[in-house]
Amino acid sequence: MLLRQLREVMAEPLASQARLDKIVDLIAENMRADVCSFYVLRDDGALELFATHGLKAESVHLTTLRLGEGLVGLIAAEAEPLSLDDAPSHPAFAYRPETGEEKYNSFLGVPVLRAGQTLGVLVVQNADHRHYGEDEAEAMLTTATILAEMVATSDFVNLIRPGSEIDLRRSRMFNGVSFTDGIALGKVVLHDPRVVVTNFIAEDTDAEKLRLDAALETMRVSIDAMLDHGDMQPSSDHREILETYRMFANDRGWVNRLTEAIGNGLSAEAAVERVQNDTRARMLRQTDPYIRDRLHDLDDLANRLLRVLTNSNQPAQRDLPDNAILVARNMGPAELLEYDRTKLRGVVLEEGGATAHVAIVARSLGVVAVGQAQSIVSMCESGDDIIIDGSAGQVHLRPTREVEQTYIDKVRISARRRAHYAALKNRPSVTRDGVEITLLHNSGLVADLPMLDDTGATGVGLFRTELQFMIASRLPRLKEQAELYAEALAIAGDRPIVFRLLDIGGDKVLPYLRSTAEENPAMGYRSIRLGLDRPGLLRTQIRALLQAANGRPLRILVPMVTETFEFRQTKQVIVKEIERLKRAGHKAPEKLEIGAMIEVPSLLFELDQIMPEADFVSIGSNDLVQFLTAADRANPRVSKAYDPIALPRLRAIRLVVDAAARHGKPVTMCGELAGKPIEALALMAIGMTRLSMGPASIGPIKEMILNLELKPVQAAVAEALGAGANGHTIRTLLTEWVERQNLPIG
Ligand code: PEP
Ligand code: MG
Repeated sequence: MLLRQLREVMAEPLASQARLDKIVDLIAENMRADVCSFYVLRDDGALELFATHGLKAESVHLTTLRLGEGLVGLIAAEAEPLSLDDAPSHPAFAYRPETGEEKYNSFLGVPVLRAGQTLGVLVVQNADHRHYGEDEAEAMLTTATILAEMVATSDFVNLIRPGSEIDLRRSRMFNGVSFTDGIALGKVVLHDPRVVVTNFIAEDTDAEKLRLDAALETMRVSIDAMLDHGDMQPSSDHREILETYRMFANDRGWVNRLTEAIGNGLSAEAAVERVQNDTRARMLRQTDPYIRDRLHDLDDLANRLLRVLTNSNQPAQRDLPDNAILVARNMGPAELLEYDRTKLRGVVLEEGGATAHVAIVARSLGVVAVGQAQSIVSMCESGDDIIIDGSAGQVHLRPTREVEQTYIDKVRISARRRAHYAALKNRPSVTRDGVEITLLHNSGLVADLPMLDDTGATGVGLFRTELQFMIASRLPRLKEQAELYAEALAIAGDRPIVFRLLDIGGDKVLPYLRSTAEENPAMGYRSIRLGLDRPGLLRTQIRALLQAANGRPLRILVPMVTETFEFRQTKQVIVKEIERLKRAGHKAPEKLEIGAMIEVPSLLFELDQIMPEADFVSIGSNDLVQFLTAADRANPRVSKAYDPIALPRLRAIRLVVDAAARHGKPVTMCGELAGKPIEALALMAIGMTRLSMGPASIGPIKEMILNLELKPVQAAVAEALGAGANGHTIRTLLTEWVERQNLPIG
């Protein structure tokens, strides 16, 4: 009844204030309340009285309460309804004389929520000591859903006290973790776009219930199908999420709440949004990570249901604005690669760690990225202005003019810095005391190879061949692989490329490759283990590499070697392929170098066996540190807790450097460590001279090298590694050297 009347008011050609006045009158009449007031949250944190039936008219747009102040402030702060039959005796009661509210004893207030954010508060009051029942609170919450939509879509700026903004559009800053350096200014594109509900009010409640039932059934069937279709969803995480979905989809409590909201007069989709609002509000306040995750799952499920109800299955490929910044809860590397790269400026995720593969892909695409921006998805709308400050790990949503100007200036400065680094590109990379350091790129896509010209790097120290496999929708064939490698070699010209054999598995999931769920995929059936177990895949790749080299020198790197015999076995596969190549009358590479990645700790204790077998070795610090510290590289809550250049880790790396020196074999660092100034300094201090990193790091690291007097730093670190750093950490020790030598560090 009330909702129908509200709809009529919404359809009338009224000015915003007149409409609001009519709405509060209607609510008061329907709820048999003496007072109905509506407060809107402003960007300064004050709740401004926007309309009232029953309180003094002159208090409208004059009376304000701060968040947490008075009953209204309390409801807004906690995002929970509050029902009292003796309001003035509540400890939070704040009396505002201009309203004349002292005579009202009973009080029912509900938060006005949208996407879990509080936009305002809706209150009814009565003079008598009335007890408002749960039904009444529920009806108020339903009405509040519609008011929320009004706040979001109407032009309230004219009504609000001059100089203020409604809170919904407030600018917000998020402190996350840096995935890549750089600054990007652009517009929000939601990776998982929110469904916009336009039809709020039920024409026919029974029909809406039937629609809901049908949609729930469709959704359940699709979840069951996904679960049964094990080969499509190989990651165990994914399965776990689907299982949770299934649980929620069949959860009576959830379904009952949806049905109840329809019973109160909402359309099926508005009911989903109404229940989703509660979940989001709880999510924003929840600190327990497990419960937060489950609430997130429930939120995803509500989105899924909304899509079914509104027939808006998202198109895989959407038109992006020219300066698109993707915002998502999380995203796999393959999903990121599906977007049009010419328009993509940045990525912001709520989850993810700096060494997660989506971060690595973002880095290799030159896309600015930040992770761990908590709750950002529910706070932004597609098209909002957004700035990502990659270096600081900060995100500014709807930035103020001043913030925007600051960043425009920073972009100008960083363009100048880039020009400055570009000017260094032809200078030999040698320290002031004559130590030559070879700087190389980490790469993986043909698209990022032309950057070799911009940085002046010596070559590619790590070409992650799995990226091509991750972008593809099916297994790339021999010919396609060979073409890609040939193209890469052609772009690199004389500059060497180290091709790493497929490192799939773990979180590098290929959707088309059947795999079984694993408890610990990073330590599971991945990389060369999978390669040796499925020799067809490995042989095809080696054949493609040999064909692409077409007689020219070739460098192949074997990932995740755990035991020397695995390396030997891989070499045998390569040798066989060379024989096959020659038999077919093709040219073998004029020089073939095969290297081993040292990233599994066990190999640290077999260095004197692996070194003679390998032509070169390469340290993967991302995996090595993850395994040494037993801290998941993709989980910042643990991975950030352990400094990768603390004594134990640096000693481990030095074992490799020393063994390589004993055996006269080149050693490269190709994990993320090499691209960070203090970390790179630590590596040079223990004798590493070959560093492979994301292209954007070459300039800053090179500038540091050109200014560096390395030998005294080497002596200090050697002493610290032997005797302990005298109460200092290696990091503080190196920071002191940076200051003493006045080194530029990016
Ligand atoms: C590493 O582990 O450090 C590495 C370079 O390999 P990836 O990050 O691809 O596992
Ligand atoms: Mg690795």
